[in-house]
Amino acid sequence: MHLLDLLFPKRCLGCGKWGRYICLSCFHSIKLLPYLKCPVCERPAVDGMTHPRCRTKYTLDGLTSFFRYDGVIKKAIKTIKYRYVTDIVTEVIDVIPNSSFSIFQNILNSKFLIMNCILVPIPLHPSRYRSRGFNQAEVIASALSKRLDIPVNTTLLIRTEKTTPQVEMKDRDKRLMNMKGVFTVKNNSSMLRCNNVTILLIDDVFTTGATLRSAASVFKHAGAPFVWGITIAQ
Ligand SMILES: [Zn+2]
Ligand SMILES: [Zn+2]
Repeated sequence: MHLLDLLFPKRCLGCGKWGRYICLSCFHSIKLLPYLKCPVCERPAVDGMTHPRCRTKYTLDGLTSFFRYDGVIKKAIKTIKYRYVTDIVTEVIDVIPNSSFSIFQNILNSKFLIMNCILVPIPLHPSRYRSRGFNQAEVIASALSKRLDIPVNTTLLIRTEKTTPQVEMKDRDKRLMNMKGVFTVKNNSSMLRCNNVTILLIDDVFTTGATLRSAASVFKHAGAPFVWGITIAQ
């Protein structure tokens, strides 16, 4: 047992049992998503690939989410948003089954895109980053990076506009408008094209998809050939 575990003993976020953030019985209650969604129309889609009819030059090529946003997963995601507890993230990433990863890995392999992948966490606005002290998407990306052996890049995508947090906005149309033009890609567009870089955008939850779609669009405009979204839950 680590000293930190003695000072700050872990309790299950689901049931309060001591020892881990996700205990074995709460682990068994976690619900995987019944199907993957097209990130544009949000209807069921094979392997999370954007439907051909929904695809434009600037849309996400697909989306992978692992869990339903409820129960212990919801509690874990809420906790990591406001408290810097990397152990919770590690436990959440650990419970993702290999089969969930192999879906998009197979797609990338089939298109020879797996070589130059980078994980790009959705950035916070610099002022929000300063007040919170960390970015939960970055913490998730670095845990995924260890599991998938894909590097993280936190400098390529920049948030230029401060927006109202999506969870505080009830109105769906307002949420979508709220995300227009908030991201920019650092002037590396030739790098994206020349190296054929595949972007895996990382966020905690897929709600309306407005954030991921907005970020995907700036990468596509900058020349990225393939952009895939990954969120823990939806
Ligand atoms: Zn529990
Ligand atoms: Zn669709």
